[in-house]
Amino acid sequence: MYTKLFIDGQWQDSDGGAEMAILNPATGQQIAAVPDGSGADVDRAVQAAKTAFYDGRWSRKTPGERSLALFRLADLLEQRGAEIGRIESENAGKPYAQLTMAGDIPFAVDNLRFFAAAARDTHGSRAGEFAAGYTSMFRREPVGVVGQIAPWNYPLLMAVWKLGPALAAGCTVVLKPAPTTPLSALMLAELIQRAGIPDGVVNVVTGGNDTGQALVEHPEVRMVSLTGSTATGKKIMATAANTLKRVHLELGGKAPVIVFDDADVEIASAKASFAAICNTGQDCTAATRVYVEKSRYNDTLEAVVAAMRGVKVGMPFDDDTAMGPAISDVQRRRVLGFIERAKAGGARIVTGGGVPTGFDGGFFVEPTVIVDADQKSEIIQSEVFGPVITVSAFDGEAQALAYGNDVLYGLAASVFTKDVGRAMRLAQQLEFGTVWINDHIPLASEGPHGGFKQSGFGKDLSAEAVGDYQITKHVMIANS
Ligand code: NAD
Repeated sequence: MYTKLFIDGQWQDSDGGAEMAILNPATGQQIAAVPDGSGADVDRAVQAAKTAFYDGRWSRKTPGERSLALFRLADLLEQRGAEIGRIESENAGKPYAQLTMAGDIPFAVDNLRFFAAAARDTHGSRAGEFAAGYTSMFRREPVGVVGQIAPWNYPLLMAVWKLGPALAAGCTVVLKPAPTTPLSALMLAELIQRAGIPDGVVNVVTGGNDTGQALVEHPEVRMVSLTGSTATGKKIMATAANTLKRVHLELGGKAPVIVFDDADVEIASAKASFAAICNTGQDCTAATRVYVEKSRYNDTLEAVVAAMRGVKVGMPFDDDTAMGPAISDVQRRRVLGFIERAKAGGARIVTGGGVPTGFDGGFFVEPTVIVDADQKSEIIQSEVFGPVITVSAFDGEAQALAYGNDVLYGLAASVFTKDVGRAMRLAQQLEFGTVWINDHIPLASEGPHGGFKQSGFGKDLSAEAVGDYQITKHVMIANS
């Protein structure tokens, strides 16, 4: 296990000496301590990334060389998957067998292979004559030093979603993992070095919000990419304005699940429930608001409640565990606060709503279904980031669409119907970056992932993500 800063290819102590305790959320016990990176640490890491960028050790490698290194990194992650997966499950409370080993690790490997392939196709568009006597060439160049700030819900995946496209584009990086979950990113740093990605190209500075703030303020950082809450996105955008950095923001979500009367209610309920408890609901695309056409409300609610009651809450390393703990006591209390305020506002808890018994010390929450919530109430409008789902009725397509779009967020939505025309109409009119038809939650490396509205802008995954880490230069050559 690595517990130091990774700067310029070296494991370094922090200048400030401050530390953060790292807990196992399933037990509440401390498992490690890592540096709480200071401004001086951030500066050291940025200088290393700057040197590595301008001397061309990565940015001027051929696309083929960058691609090979990323393929090697994917292979190493696959080979060491069980080890890094154990660290991830211990640090983030994820069910090891179902989520980490069958989900996050193979997906992260696939993401890296996608970006390794994408690294071969980062050059600019064709040359052309657009002004008499001139030939124009459009170069696609890496943006430069990028500050990347990750959340705690998918620590390894989010690190890979950030590093993969930035490295494919030829950027150098200072990555700051979330303060609660830095361990898998530190191990990834070891694999990055083993893969032959040169020292200084990827630097990992652990720390809290102030460490992130120092990275955003740093004048040598050309772009900041955050996955985090909408509130943090707004702060980062304001700070980045001082140095006019490019910002790339993957923020919160409040995904609706719209179930029409012709849908297969069993399938819709099973998919919605899984997407509500997956990763303990700590997923920006989690199913949070189920809207059911009123003729099917009762049977859909019954099926959702049965599915949520059937979720096996357990310790991350038990094979039959479907849902582990929340990430922290703070997060658990936040989730319980939302539930209490929903109750006080007149909503009804049909199942869950509290803390399951038998988990001394861990930060567990019950899978929870809430009904009778007003569309304008907090529980419908705000991101809870816990295993909590509301079920409401709607009357007709127009109302379903209005309810679905009626939040500040715009990350993901789903529609369950057998009517293709209706599915296409909704897919067009829902203001969300991802719209699933007859499913909720799957992703693919090729699919752009990102928000509309206050869920942010810029894409993770896909070739678009690589483009986000590039800047176009117009080279104009006089022909005479
Ligand atoms: P958070 O916003 O509290 O923290 C995210 C990261 O930002 C952390 O590393 C934190 O230290 C850092 N940070 C906080 N304040 C900062 C500041 N002023 N300057 C610089 N850095 C700062 O979010 P979280 O609680 O870690 O993660 C949960 C949030 O992330 C949820 O809202 C969720 O929806 C969102 N999320 C979005 C996506 C997506 O793809 N859109 C994916 C996962 C999570």
